[in-house]
Amino acid sequence: MRIYNTLTRKKEDFKPIEENKIRMYVCGPTVYNLIHIGNARPMIVFDTFRRYMTHRGYEVNYVSNFTDVDDKIIKSANEEQVSCDEISEKYIAECKKDMEGLNVLPATVHPRATREIEGMIELISDLIEKGYAYVAEDKTVYFRTRRFKDYGKLSHKNIDDLEAGHGRELKVAGEGGKEDYLDFVLWKPKKEGEPYWSSPWCDGRPGWHTECCVMAKKYLGETIDIHAGGEDLIFPHHENEIAQSEASNGVEFSHYWMHNGFLNIDGEKMSKSLNNFFTVRDIQEKYDLQVLRFFMLSAHYRSPLNFSAELMEAAKAGLDRIKTAASNLDFLIKNAPEGEGDPELLDRIPEFTKRFDTAMDDDLNTADAVSVIFELVKFINTTVDDKSPKGLLTALKTELKSLSDVMGLIIFSDKEELLDGDIETLINERQEARKAKNFKRADEIRDELLGKGIILEDTRQGVKWKRAD
Ligand code: AMP
Ligand code: ZN
Repeated sequence: MRIYNTLTRKKEDFKPIEENKIRMYVCGPTVYNLIHIGNARPMIVFDTFRRYMTHRGYEVNYVSNFTDVDDKIIKSANEEQVSCDEISEKYIAECKKDMEGLNVLPATVHPRATREIEGMIELISDLIEKGYAYVAEDKTVYFRTRRFKDYGKLSHKNIDDLEAGHGRELKVAGEGGKEDYLDFVLWKPKKEGEPYWSSPWCDGRPGWHTECCVMAKKYLGETIDIHAGGEDLIFPHHENEIAQSEASNGVEFSHYWMHNGFLNIDGEKMSKSLNNFFTVRDIQEKYDLQVLRFFMLSAHYRSPLNFSAELMEAAKAGLDRIKTAASNLDFLIKNAPEGEGDPELLDRIPEFTKRFDTAMDDDLNTADAVSVIFELVKFINTTVDDKSPKGLLTALKTELKSLSDVMGLIIFSDKEELLDGDIETLINERQEARKAKNFKRADEIRDELLGKGIILEDTRQGVKWKRAD
């Protein structure tokens, strides 16, 4: 596997710290609203990376946080007259629903900033002790940026070229006792109407850049294999994470840094602040979220990706082509003659996995991997018919399913997976509902079963059912 490492600006061979294991941290969303489809890009991309590496035999320990204390959350809470915790609980739950719809696997751990304050206080205390941080007159704790000699190594910026007020804190040198305009906030004093925690310095809350260092160390260790997120996080967020982590631990924070390109709309980054965004829910009203996932994976993760209705339609048509091949295979398998199939054809099938893996090994080239899936679809469409033996059809189905599973694409319908026992249970529930004259529920159950290909027939002997062909 070769990965483009933002740190070295080169594609490098991936070598894990521990054999066959990956320690990976992905910066997650700030939960103050429904996520937009730009936020969904890193989720989909790095979920696909995780699925692929798992398919290659790695055990991936995948940590992704929720930022649940932040100015935007406080603003939302004040507007809705509820606590910050209520806002973040609500939007974490909504975000998890979106992830499920996008078939993004839950992380091994989803830590939350507000649950890790103690660790942050420990890190800040350590940085103060080591001379990398100081408490200003106004009790804000700052990181002494110039003290960290490698500052700028990730974003490839020269420290003297940096402008004042980078990051989210705009105080200038001198104000409140800030020593240098480059220093960034580790802990800030509480303000009226804001949540706060007590600390050795003052009641207050942590700065944004501190949480990920603490969570990465706690759940993955001082040095991790891969740290990832959108490219807007390179500077200052990830640069500041490196400064804090490495100043405190004295070892490299992460060996590889992966960053996805932006999702743009009309040539501009999609973001809440520019008010040019679609939420995942907006898209769900019109499309199956699998289409959105497929759209994202049709481009290389580092390229900018423009969102448009035409491209979504093209993604839908592409995904439909794959799904049609899948359902044809399912249909043919049911009535296929027994037999292994032509060895020459069977021999060609593993070639698709090989080419798929070659594409994915090249810095997760999902665009090329999608082309390999289309080639497999073409091979299926031109090779099989109603005389094809079961062996060949099953081998093709296994291949197509395996490649689409790695992409997190669900292309085979689960009609067959509804077990007889589950059907009987639903039929009994429908009978009970009818007895209780709850015809609405009874109809709902009939429709639900129909949606899964199960047809009910009310007869004098009771309810009979069959699977639709
Ligand atoms: P935020 O909630 O703004 O901290 O963002 C959560 C994640 O989404 C981060 O990894 C961001 O880099 C990423 N992100 C935000 N907007 C976009 C976008 N338009 N395109 C791609 N990634 C984005
Ligand atoms: Zn982070």
